Amino acid sequence: MSGFAIKGWCPDAWRPMATGDGLLVRIKPRLGRLSRDQALALCALAQTCGNGMIDITRRANLQIRGVSEANWPLLIVQLIEHGLTDPDAWRERARNILIAPNWAEGDDSHRIACDLMARIDRLPPLPGKVGFVIDAGRAPILSAEPGDFRIERGADGGLILRADGRVCGTIIPFGQEAEALIALAHWFAQSGARRMARHHAPLPDWANGSQPPAPARPAIVPGGAAFGVPFGQIDASLLARTATSDLRITPWRVLILEGTPTANIPGLISDPASPLLRVDACPGAPACPQASVETRDLARRLAPVVKGRLHVSGCAKGCARSGPADITLTGRDGRFDLAANARAGAHDQTELPALTDMDPAMVLAHFGVA
Ligand code: SF4
Repeated sequence: MSGFAIKGWCPDAWRPMATGDGLLVRIKPRLGRLSRDQALALCALAQTCGNGMIDITRRANLQIRGVSEANWPLLIVQLIEHGLTDPDAWRERARNILIAPNWAEGDDSHRIACDLMARIDRLPPLPGKVGFVIDAGRAPILSAEPGDFRIERGADGGLILRADGRVCGTIIPFGQEAEALIALAHWFAQSGARRMARHHAPLPDWANGSQPPAPARPAIVPGGAAFGVPFGQIDASLLARTATSDLRITPWRVLILEGTPTANIPGLISDPASPLLRVDACPGAPACPQASVETRDLARRLAPVVKGRLHVSGCAKGCARSGPADITLTGRDGRFDLAANARAGAHDQTELPALTDMDPAMVLAHFGVA
């Protein structure tokens, strides 16, 4: 397995991360939403302070890439001015809240997310990757998305608090959801754990409920006013043209226009059957200093021929997808390892690579791509 740097923290606007193409500045849209004015401001900033490319992350955040150290002070001031970043660095770091993108004003998801944001100062310091999921619609739609503490619809129709990795949750009285999330976060912080899913200590009695979540619903896919973004990266000029109304950001690399549905937007995916929707590929080389291989051109060529989910990862860290894919290609020392039903960097007894040390031509030939 090739080595990679485990950062152990997450970048945000106040703490940008150095990458192969400059600083990466992460923006966390409140409620996963951008007004049209905010979207246009973000696009202009990506062009003037960054390299013009914007990422959509698996937690429905946005990233401006290619920011120079000289431009960052101007960028942070502008982000605050447009309401895209909290003026308080601690609050910005703590606000790791993923909300079901189909929320409506005043519904449970909206109400609970607003309650939690209003109480953000009461959260304990948490490891950078720890986050909250507010998924309080009629059925969970974020079950597969990363998040440590969840509010979601229970099988009996009420709302439950569920710790990630636990099958069942605790019924929470109406209006107490944000307080319950904060209390569980304090218990977690005091236990010294890093991620809830890997934390096997018994939950406190009050949080150790037996109510299962309601059956999950499928995620939102492109069609109507929803548009897939190939590999979750979009040119700022295309996003500016797309933002004809306010926008919702989803964790599925899909943008939702709140305004009138648009039939087609060149460069974005409107066909729910597009093979690109089944592909995860991180930026790879040269954008990421950890990568020794190019990823996205290869993924684009393989997408139509690989059956099921394809993951092309620049290294063993697997930033684009944490779970297994039907076919996973992992870069290592300038070549690829290929594994089936595996995570990036498959190296344990159950996920050993089937083929190793392949150059891109060998990979393409393996799948019959001329
Ligand atoms: S998985 Fe990709 S983006 Fe993540 S560190 Fe490795 S090469 Fe970089």
